[in-house]
Amino acid sequence: MDAVVQQYLDRFGVSDATRRFLTKPQKMFIGGQWLDSGDDEVVDVIEPSTGGLVTHLPVGSLGDLDLAVAAARRQFDGGEWRRLKPLERERLLHRLADLIEANAIELAEIESIDMGKSVSQARDIDIQGTIDTIRYFAGWASKLHGRTVEPSLPGNYLAYTRKEPIGVVAAIVPWNFPLQTMAWKLAAALAVGCTVVVKPAELTSLSTLRFAELVQEAGIPDGVVNIVTGRGSVIGAAMTRHPGIDKLTFTGSTPVGRTVGQTAVDSVKRVTLELGGKSPVLVLEDADIPAAARAVANGVFFNSGQVCDAGTRAYVHRSVYEQFLQELVAYTSTLKIAPGLDPDCFISPLVSAKQKDNVSSYIAAGVQEGAELVYGGRPQDGPGYFVEPTIFAHCRNDMRIVQEEIFGPVLVTAPFDTIEEAVTLANDSPFGLAAAIYSNDLGLVHSLIPQLHAGTVYVNAHSTIDPAMPFGGFKESGFGKDLGPEQLDYLMETKAVWITLP
Ligand code: NAD
Repeated sequence: MDAVVQQYLDRFGVSDATRRFLTKPQKMFIGGQWLDSGDDEVVDVIEPSTGGLVTHLPVGSLGDLDLAVAAARRQFDGGEWRRLKPLERERLLHRLADLIEANAIELAEIESIDMGKSVSQARDIDIQGTIDTIRYFAGWASKLHGRTVEPSLPGNYLAYTRKEPIGVVAAIVPWNFPLQTMAWKLAAALAVGCTVVVKPAELTSLSTLRFAELVQEAGIPDGVVNIVTGRGSVIGAAMTRHPGIDKLTFTGSTPVGRTVGQTAVDSVKRVTLELGGKSPVLVLEDADIPAAARAVANGVFFNSGQVCDAGTRAYVHRSVYEQFLQELVAYTSTLKIAPGLDPDCFISPLVSAKQKDNVSSYIAAGVQEGAELVYGGRPQDGPGYFVEPTIFAHCRNDMRIVQEEIFGPVLVTAPFDTIEEAVTLANDSPFGLAAAIYSNDLGLVHSLIPQLHAGTVYVNAHSTIDPAMPFGGFKESGFGKDLGPEQLDYLMETKAVWITLP
């Protein structure tokens, strides 16, 4: 660990447990064993506030992936997990959730140090969301059932359906909510009796490796959960065509998701794709403008804009546009830019130097395209990958900053005159992950909800996520759902059974 990172941990009084975890050699978790990479290759883990080295991660080889899939396969085909009584599976998942709760501070610190995010948000959202998701799906283990059917066919039959776990599930996870997104994919799969091979993002694997220690401590049998760290272009790509994998669940960018989907379909794997977004926000004439401006800023700048359903395009009724901009700028200027371990941090550094460059080049493109820069946008010097929250006004829908996913703290805004125009602007995007409406006109709001092409519509809110509600996109934001009872259908096969009766 670099001295600059040690000083950073000292400055914010990071726990001894976190220090112990960060200073021990990191290994992959395969079939209940802790293994180095078969190729002995490692990659640096960089702390985003300081740019300093934290530790090294094993870069998994194709041989490591084979081992992990074989362990998951053995456990699924012949092991005890899917044969456990449902209430026993449920009990083990609750034990895992209890252990995560008991280690929440450590997990939040690890997530903040690895990804850069605010430690307070990591504790309240990422780690709490992980616990809630596991508890929610634990309860489903004992509530899965098929149907009995009365056929109209001549003859006498017993006809019924059975729900059976799909098999070995491969989960490919992005870096913006590393532990929580992994839990979205893993909790439902484990509840129905599947086994799992997880590939965390190469930038943010640490919390998933700490989680694997808790899986072991909870007494979940070997081979049920396997973690292979490594490159997406190698391990992720190999997962998409691996014959031992039955189902792929991918969260990440639309371009990578497209290739994952194509390869998965070639080998007839079941696949769920949770992809990018560019979510519109409509602020109607009657909205409470100060409240809407605060909510829109929180909805786009949370996690420094590295959120798939962030409300990144705000269309505001012309009669209140200038007032909205004033309130928005005033509130945004109060958001504290700070290192992730600062408990009051709201705007944390971006995950990597590459992401900072990428976002900065979009800001430059916005200025060049003629959008009016009304807040932020200045390059930040010094260590760490900080980008100011940035607001553009009077944007046109054909601008790149309006059409493309930036995945940083950048909000584009424009006025509209009629509701029809607002709907057209909102739907003019290849993405369809989420949308938001700010208004108290119930009739108008209800008439707008069906017109918006988005998997989630928030009203006077943004990014309210709960394990009981499904999450997933329309259009190029993907297909299939995570969370809610809907997710279970993507992890189970339905078997039709016909029995001739005397
Ligand atoms: P990414 O697509 O670059 O990577 C996602 C994962 O895919 C990583 O684990 C990566 O290693 C792996 N990967 C890379 N190349 C691969 C390949 N050829 N085959 C298989 N796997 C491969 O995305 P990212 O930069 O990590 O995350 C940001 C993106 O994720 C954004 O587009 C964001 O909108 C999206 N996202 C979507 C949701 C959602 O629920 N819809 C949630 C969070 C993030």
